[in-house]
Amino acid sequence: TKYILVSGGVVSGIGKGVIASSTGLLLKMTGLKVTAIKIDPYMNIDAGTMRPQEHGEVYVLNDGGEVDLDLGNYERYLNVTLSRDNNITTGKIYREVIEKERRGDYLGKTVQIVPHVTNAIQDWIERVSKIPVDDTGEEPDVCIVELGGTVGDIESAPFIEALRQFQFRVGYENFALIHVSLVPDMHGEQKTKPTQTTIHALRGLGLLPDLIACRLIVQKPLEPATKAKISMFCHVASEQVIGVHDVNSVYHVPLLLQSQGIVEFLHKRLNLSSINLTKEMK
Ligand code: ADP
Repeated sequence: TKYILVSGGVVSGIGKGVIASSTGLLLKMTGLKVTAIKIDPYMNIDAGTMRPQEHGEVYVLNDGGEVDLDLGNYERYLNVTLSRDNNITTGKIYREVIEKERRGDYLGKTVQIVPHVTNAIQDWIERVSKIPVDDTGEEPDVCIVELGGTVGDIESAPFIEALRQFQFRVGYENFALIHVSLVPDMHGEQKTKPTQTTIHALRGLGLLPDLIACRLIVQKPLEPATKAKISMFCHVASEQVIGVHDVNSVYHVPLLLQSQGIVEFLHKRLNLSSINLTKEMK
């Protein structure tokens, strides 16, 4: 399985879910089977007990799981059926670790965030990424993992650390990272400083961005000069900087990403063509 992590910086509600779903959709169009996991770093076991006005509508899955609305995006964009385990929360991870501790699974050991909680997160992602999500019953080729919240939050720290380790567990050619950042437009001037700051924080935590998706909350595209500046200050090639401005319908976002070469980039980076080749040979 290939993993694509979508993280976010600067502010929440920036469009991570839409970018993650759109990326999944584009890969699905190239013949790959795509699944998705949403991580919500809160202590609630699920979204079922949260006020909709505060959190957004609760999305109900086929198995009755009451989850984050983003899972609805995934089901619609990818035409898949997900289960409650496709939504990981801090509450679910801690519950699992505490139940194991009571059973005596760690007998004699001090149970800690690192390595016990971080291992539980990695095991969960690996397990759920292999569950078939369509009626072919086949294992997915690609798993999109969306990390809720913003990088640098106390809440998401154990997940960031788990994902940092996860890169090594699965190997470089099986793990890519898309970081979504905000590019504020100040009276027509596109500002790069928040992006520089969040990429700096990300690298400090041991995660290196393969693609930086720059969200502009205006209908004006990312300017070539802004792109060049982000490339220079964030130490990535300019093809790794993707502009995502406001569009009239979120269903246009896949086209916006495609026109900037994201499919070719991910195919090369994760050697995705080898999966399709293997399938053809079967
Ligand atoms: P996050 O996952 O970062 O919380 P979402 O993907 O849920 O953010 O998006 C937040 C809101 O912004 C949603 O209402 C979504 O429809 C809207 N949105 C996201 N991307 C765009 C875009 N490129 N243009 C217009 N609206 C967008």
